Amino acid sequence: MRDRFGMAFGIFELFISRLSSLVSFIARYANSFSRLFVKNLSGPEQVTFFVTDRCNLNCEHCFVDKTDAHPDKELSAGEIAKISEGMGRINYVTITGGEPFLRDDITDIVRILDKNLNPSLITILTNGLLTDKISAKMREIMDACRNSDVLVKISIDGPRQVHDKMRLRDGSFDSARTTFLKLKELKGYTGT
Ligand code: SF4
Repeated sequence: MRDRFGMAFGIFELFISRLSSLVSFIARYANSFSRLFVKNLSGPEQVTFFVTDRCNLNCEHCFVDKTDAHPDKELSAGEIAKISEGMGRINYVTITGGEPFLRDDITDIVRILDKNLNPSLITILTNGLLTDKISAKMREIMDACRNSDVLVKISIDGPRQVHDKMRLRDGSFDSARTTFLKLKELKGYTGT
């Protein structure tokens, strides 16, 4: 009888010790789990700004209607500031168009989003045609951005022939490649 009681007590002890391990495991990771879910529920992680519908290409696969481009209806840098002021922190911000580097105020736009949204990464999509302007603007942007890393994504559709055919412009592949090499020179530049 005593043996049976001892065995039952041992099982009970084992159960309690497993239970307390489980409780301490849950306590230890609850914070991380809750942050994971609450973070996802608290707002968007990513936002994309279409800053223009103008473009210096007319790719066959493009969904942007450039025949109906309205530069006068683009959001101004001031309007982007007003919109982004109340958005809270957004981890990933993408800037696209059209061709975003056609905006002469692209540096201001990136500076505003860097300040107001405090993202860890701002990505700018480009066709890479405007080599000198992109390079100069990226230098300015790196000087202006205090919070975020900035990534430039240059669209490449395939080897030279395929790319130029899809972009409906001879030389567009070479321009994109030149821009890539020019931006590579900025690697390690941390701003002034
Ligand atoms: S570069 Fe981009 S925005 Fe411009 S036409 Fe091509 S796909 Fe459209």
